[in-house]
Amino acid sequence: MSAEESTPAVVLRTRDYAESDRIVTLLTRDHGKIGGIAKGAKASRHRFERKLEPFSHVMLHFRRRPNGQLVFITRAEAAGLAQFPIDENLGRIALGAYMLELTDALAAEEGEAAKAYEILTSALAALSRSSADLALRQAFELRMLKWAGFGLDFVRCRVCAESPGAEAGAIYFVVARGGVVCSRCRPNVAEGGIRLRSESAAALARLETIDLADSAGSTPAGSDGAAAMARFVNSVVDRRLRSIEFLDSVMNAGN
Ligand SMILES: [Zn+2]
Repeated sequence: MSAEESTPAVVLRTRDYAESDRIVTLLTRDHGKIGGIAKGAKASRHRFERKLEPFSHVMLHFRRRPNGQLVFITRAEAAGLAQFPIDENLGRIALGAYMLELTDALAAEEGEAAKAYEILTSALAALSRSSADLALRQAFELRMLKWAGFGLDFVRCRVCAESPGAEAGAIYFVVARGGVVCSRCRPNVAEGGIRLRSESAAALARLETIDLADSAGSTPAGSDGAAAMARFVNSVVDRRLRSIEFLDSVMNAGN
């Protein structure tokens, strides 16, 4: 069997397998997204207790198998890593579950993901100090999408490259172009667009650049910006994100 490897990791999802095993998907700092099997996880409380649940931030020890996709998880330890107390608050659970699911959808198995690990751990740390904050949600979406190669432009028109500015009237977010189109260019663009107020475009442009830790509590884009983000996320992930409906219901109830 191969040598044991170790890396910090965040648990994205788990499911029980057979009598006492657990299959765990993690975003690791050093080896991208990894799927592993924790043999006897349910029985061996010593090695694994509470360490392999969604949101757990662990030092993962594992061995690769010659022909299997799943690695063998040998141990998982807290090892002094920051923990994220997400489960004390419904809003946090909802937004946190969405963060995990979006990360899972955008990260490829074993692809390089050190930056995604940094974004996710920063976002979960910020979430641990706040709640289902819309600005934090949007800042996280923008950051993780950019990491995955989907940088969005809310400042300059995708056609003429000019900044429409506040005086230019309506601007339109066009999903297929990953950014906004000004009102002058809009008639020449065949794809559908979502009308954005200039305040919402400005908020999204700002949230893409500020520190994630500072985003919670700052000004989010309004419902037009939220709709643009939702439409774009939906266009790039290859699955229906089950956490979105729950998150939207929690966020609407709280606003
Ligand atoms: Zn234009």
